[in-house]
Amino acid sequence: MSELNTAQQQAVEAGDGPQLILAGAGSGKTRTIVHRIGHLIASRGIAPHRILAVTFTNKAAAELKSRLSMLIGDDGGGVVSGTFHALSLRFLRRYADALGFPRSFQVIDADDQKALIKRLLKARNIATDRLHPNYLLGWIEHCKHAGLTPAQAPENGWNGIDMRELYGEYQAHLKQHERMDFSDLILNVVLLMRDFPDIAEALRCRFDFVLVDEYQDTNPIQHEWLMQLCSSHRNLTVVGDDDQSIYGWRGADVSHILDFERHWHGSEIHRLEKNYRSSEAILELANAVIRENADRHEKVLKATRERGETPRWIVCNDDYDEARRIAAQLTRWREGGYPWSEMAILFRSNRQSLVLEQVLRESQVPYRMIGGVGFFERMEIKDALAYWSLLNGCGDALQLLRICNRPKRGLGAKGQEQLMAQLAASGMRAGDWLQLIASAGAEGAAKKMVPIAAVMQSLQGSLDQLPDRGLMMLLDESGYLKSIEALGEIESASRLENIRTLQEYIEMSISEGLTPVEFMDRAALLQSSEEMQQGEDDEPEAVSMMSLHRAKGLEFDCVVLPGVEEGQLPHQRSLDEGESGISEERRLLYVGITRARRHLLLSSARLRRLFGESHYPLPSRFIKSLSPDTLSQEGVAAPSTATDSASGGITIGSSVTHPSFGDGVILSLEGSGDATRVTVQFRRAGIKRLMLKYAALQMM
Ligand code: ATP
Ligand code: MG
Repeated sequence: MSELNTAQQQAVEAGDGPQLILAGAGSGKTRTIVHRIGHLIASRGIAPHRILAVTFTNKAAAELKSRLSMLIGDDGGGVVSGTFHALSLRFLRRYADALGFPRSFQVIDADDQKALIKRLLKARNIATDRLHPNYLLGWIEHCKHAGLTPAQAPENGWNGIDMRELYGEYQAHLKQHERMDFSDLILNVVLLMRDFPDIAEALRCRFDFVLVDEYQDTNPIQHEWLMQLCSSHRNLTVVGDDDQSIYGWRGADVSHILDFERHWHGSEIHRLEKNYRSSEAILELANAVIRENADRHEKVLKATRERGETPRWIVCNDDYDEARRIAAQLTRWREGGYPWSEMAILFRSNRQSLVLEQVLRESQVPYRMIGGVGFFERMEIKDALAYWSLLNGCGDALQLLRICNRPKRGLGAKGQEQLMAQLAASGMRAGDWLQLIASAGAEGAAKKMVPIAAVMQSLQGSLDQLPDRGLMMLLDESGYLKSIEALGEIESASRLENIRTLQEYIEMSISEGLTPVEFMDRAALLQSSEEMQQGEDDEPEAVSMMSLHRAKGLEFDCVVLPGVEEGQLPHQRSLDEGESGISEERRLLYVGITRARRHLLLSSARLRRLFGESHYPLPSRFIKSLSPDTLSQEGVAAPSTATDSASGGITIGSSVTHPSFGDGVILSLEGSGDATRVTVQFRRAGIKRLMLKYAALQMM
């Protein structure tokens, strides 16, 4: 307990009943949760397995357990922890039959989900331009986040189409395929607790204490999940920071944290006001940025660390210039004694990483991407898993559909439809049906599947002796590996390597005692949160690159935030949404800034190339008016130049035309009066630096 301040200690030792810990970034909220769990076990004698900890990522759950083990020894391992999704899946494995699902149901992935929606629309002759599949999916998710079943969903007659009916149909299809989507996991646990009092009771009695980290990002259905689960003992501890609520676009509702007292009568509120993470200078910038948001809980957040280096903002010429300067800065930090693993580049959108990755490779800065295209989202991995789960008795119709023509077996769209119809008519599960046709033969489309079914049947008897439960033998004998090899040297090498990684992962999981169904669950959850990364463990000594959203809760000595520009941060999408969107973007920047312990670099570029087009973004509104004492600035054009009368209204980003160079855009202005120089990107003539006075530029 010596490593806690008084406020933290009070929160740790607080008695029963609802507890809210509301505090700013880096104030030790997560640490307080860990210590509170330790206290419940060590001082209150609560059995570890009767404590439930809800975290925002699977990784955070693992982290929590390891910190607990350090604190109280092995007992820490017994605490039940996970994300809302992982915990829901665990509950559903036990109770899904009450909802009419077999306990071996599978989680549908984003691709299959979209394919299902498309088929559903096609069957009703609804063209994409009347109702886009993404719009329908988004609307359904929205209903699920709000806890609404098809019967409860609001009326929505989009283009004369009854959306509720489609939602109902989609749910029926999922059920028929024995699948749930990610939002269903949470919704269905709530439905169990709403509709089955005995199951609700059993779940409520399962835990004595429930603790939730990052509570500001819960959506209404997660909120109800907690309300239901804790309604009898009311031992709910939540920690959060309204200023870090960044999942509004996914239905998170910050009011849950602000209204906690209203929902949970008699709750105690704890505030932590000391920041232990960041230098005073970094904290000052964070506070200056977030202060501009309306509608927030005013919070005190005082530095405990030294003043440190003032955060810097550099304005670069273009993407490459930015990437090179970032690489150079990382190298300098490294030379200054920081390990690569203590550095992070946090960006707003994934596409920002392309140029950065290229330049980091050239500069020999080791990095790892966290949350790019997830391992389990790769085509070959999904194919291989479809084969494997069919072989191991947990595959379903969608998986059969996925692999029926990979490699080519002469089954086109028609043939595939027929195959599905034949399977449905049999009333059997896909794996059993394959076994049947292996011995009894088949007609029509199914005939094409007889050879592969026979291969599976021949492997069936020896699965227990194969450490990968037949994965490689099946992929080989089915001709799948050959079809991958035919893709060409470079592509096939990386895909084969991925398949071998999968093989190792399966072998490891099976040797840990996981059943095939449990393995598929693990894969589904990793895929949802994109947490398994290639090379993650091979390269612990690397700079982390990830989106700002993924960086929640983490900390690094040195942090770079590239692309702090209008259109990027705030993002264009949010600009279109108005004030609430912009507030959320500002919180995102706040999250980014507060990840840093000692050094912080923000960058923007005057020119960005995207899909062959040039853009000339303006500096982000969040930082452009900060004083240089708070954010030191390099290469930022002095605002006076832009309004200088000599420049005739020309500013950075103005479109101009020149008598001989043609059309262009102003990249920068330097100096003032007659000495003003401009740098112009001409469409045809390239970049030129000119004396404004003589350049004869005309505004367009
Ligand atoms: P975030 O809002 O970013 O999730 P948080 O409030 O959860 O932050 P923690 O991650 O728990 O904060 O703590 C931030 C850092 O401060 C950690 O490195 C932690 O070990 C350290 N810390 C927290 N409390 C103390 C303390 N009382 N004494 C020393 N260090 C502390
Ligand atoms: Mg935290």
